[in-house]
Amino acid sequence: MDWFWWVLIIFWTGGFAWVVDNVRTALRHRHERKLQLLEAAKQERLAVEAAHQPPEPVCGCTHHLAKHDKRGLCHERVEVPTAWDENKKPLRFEAGQCNCQQYVGPQPLSQVFAEDLTDRA
Ligand SMILES: [Zn+2]
Ligand SMILES: [Zn+2]
Repeated sequence: MDWFWWVLIIFWTGGFAWVVDNVRTALRHRHERKLQLLEAAKQERLAVEAAHQPPEPVCGCTHHLAKHDKRGLCHERVEVPTAWDENKKPLRFEAGQCNCQQYVGPQPLSQVFAEDLTDRA
């Protein structure tokens, strides 16, 4: 008998369905893998974008870097309690200045890299 007949018999007896099933499963797995790769690439891109975003220059006193002067003193107006009730809850406030002495938040990149590192005179 020719090998061709053997192939035909295998196909007739369900071998063909088995092959189709396997191919289909393999294709689906490859598709899933592709989706995973796409998702991973997207996550990576988002992470890279997040890493390139400079952090908000906000000081420990919760005020923005722009509110601090060159010496680091914070000039933001704040409400200073002047009277408290028996539960130590402030009753009255007075306008005052934040008593932060030094900006301690992240420095914007433009300031960190502003200085010339090389001597190109
Ligand atoms: Zn501050
Ligand atoms: Zn402040």
